[in-house]
Amino acid sequence: MRLVPVIALALACTAAAGGAATPSQALQRGDIVITGGSLFDGIRDDVVPNNGILVRSGIFLEVGADFAARDLSSATVIRLADDEYVLPGLFDLHAHYAVDLFGEGRVDEYVANPLVFLGNGVTTTFPAGEVDPEGMMAARRRIERGEQPGPRILSSGPYFGSARPGWNAASETPERIRHEVDEWAARGVAGLKAKGIQPLQLAALIDQAHRYGLTVTGHLDSGFRNTVNPRDAIAMGIDRIEHFLGGDAISGDNAAYSSLESLDVSRPEVDAICQLFLKRNVYYDATLSAYGYWYDPKDARVFTQWVDEMSFLTPHAREVVKARLPRRPTEQFRRIYEVKFKEIKRFYDAGGGRLITSGTDHPSWGEYLSGFGTHRELQALVLAGLPPAAALKAATINAARAMHLGDALGSVAPGKLADLVIVRGNPLQDIRNSRHVERVMVRGTIYDAATLLESAKGKLGPTTDGDDGWWKGNVRFK
Ligand SMILES: [Zn+2]
Repeated sequence: MRLVPVIALALACTAAAGGAATPSQALQRGDIVITGGSLFDGIRDDVVPNNGILVRSGIFLEVGADFAARDLSSATVIRLADDEYVLPGLFDLHAHYAVDLFGEGRVDEYVANPLVFLGNGVTTTFPAGEVDPEGMMAARRRIERGEQPGPRILSSGPYFGSARPGWNAASETPERIRHEVDEWAARGVAGLKAKGIQPLQLAALIDQAHRYGLTVTGHLDSGFRNTVNPRDAIAMGIDRIEHFLGGDAISGDNAAYSSLESLDVSRPEVDAICQLFLKRNVYYDATLSAYGYWYDPKDARVFTQWVDEMSFLTPHAREVVKARLPRRPTEQFRRIYEVKFKEIKRFYDAGGGRLITSGTDHPSWGEYLSGFGTHRELQALVLAGLPPAAALKAATINAARAMHLGDALGSVAPGKLADLVIVRGNPLQDIRNSRHVERVMVRGTIYDAATLLESAKGKLGPTTDGDDGWWKGNVRFK
């Protein structure tokens, strides 16, 4: 049995034409027309003048249309200034909704976080291992029903591996894993995430997931102590890899990070693993900025604050977070951060540009929030040497394709689902302009970004020490 993802079905049910031809139609009430400014469509490497985009019922009906001689009176018309740029809605494929606020372990937070993602132009998120998969599924349904603004949530379900609270490796037989995949597929996950998994478990996970057309990604290791090197996961058929490329330069004699921190990316083994990714079309989330988070002083180019992120915490949460800072710096992560800039450039130069996706893995103790992380990750990719257009593709079309949603999302094109971002300033000239989100459209509904962010302020976290409502609604683990 192979199930078609729900999102693809939704698209197939629409009659919108694909391709470049966009016959002009009479406008209807409820249509949105966006004219002026410039367009980065997610496919081309440059920007073009935005003649006009017509959105109807959550679909891009016409792109590049000429509205000069047409009657727009029944549509909502948005006229952009010359310094405004339309981009496809941004993806975060490693989008934790978890916050780690009080030494109490991680808690999935789905009240303020969806607003923060959307207010940053992030319209699609893959949570990459949920602490509270039922709660996340309920939040996703509320968002889909229009009861709560938020990005599309491509549910990941729980972690498969020791990262899951209560995971008992000995009892997780391949049969049991297959059974769990059946259950989560039936509940509508969009992909699965392995972290801390053993080889036989991962092989079963991948094989069973593929029966449903689901992708699998993994935070893997070196092969040391019954872990899995990305090289071996690729042989098993894994679709995506998080954090590092792996391969023979990451020795199975010790944990991956001890090799990674001193990796010479010019080694032939690094080229060999790049070629394996290319040959097997495996997508790669380098999560550069996540490594930059774990040491101090941080890379001041990437870890600037253009919005006071702690203002999204409740006053109580803010006090608790402030009292816990600064965190203990991790020198190993400084070295890994530097290596990873070279590693992703090596991968790009080897021809991996189409396989790079953007994932933030933005750990949050409260001072930096996941929703802002995509802009940090984009900037890090450019600082590593990727052209800005390649970085933007990592966060749009590549990410959509990585989730088997390339026909539905990831570019501004006729027939696709209407997700887009309007930013001020050309992000191809300075990638930091991606931060200047003015408006965001998801499912054809347009929001003012500042209003979304404003509505999330002071909401993230418990209001008092004994805030049972927070703990009940947001499952926690140590
Ligand atoms: Zn993660």
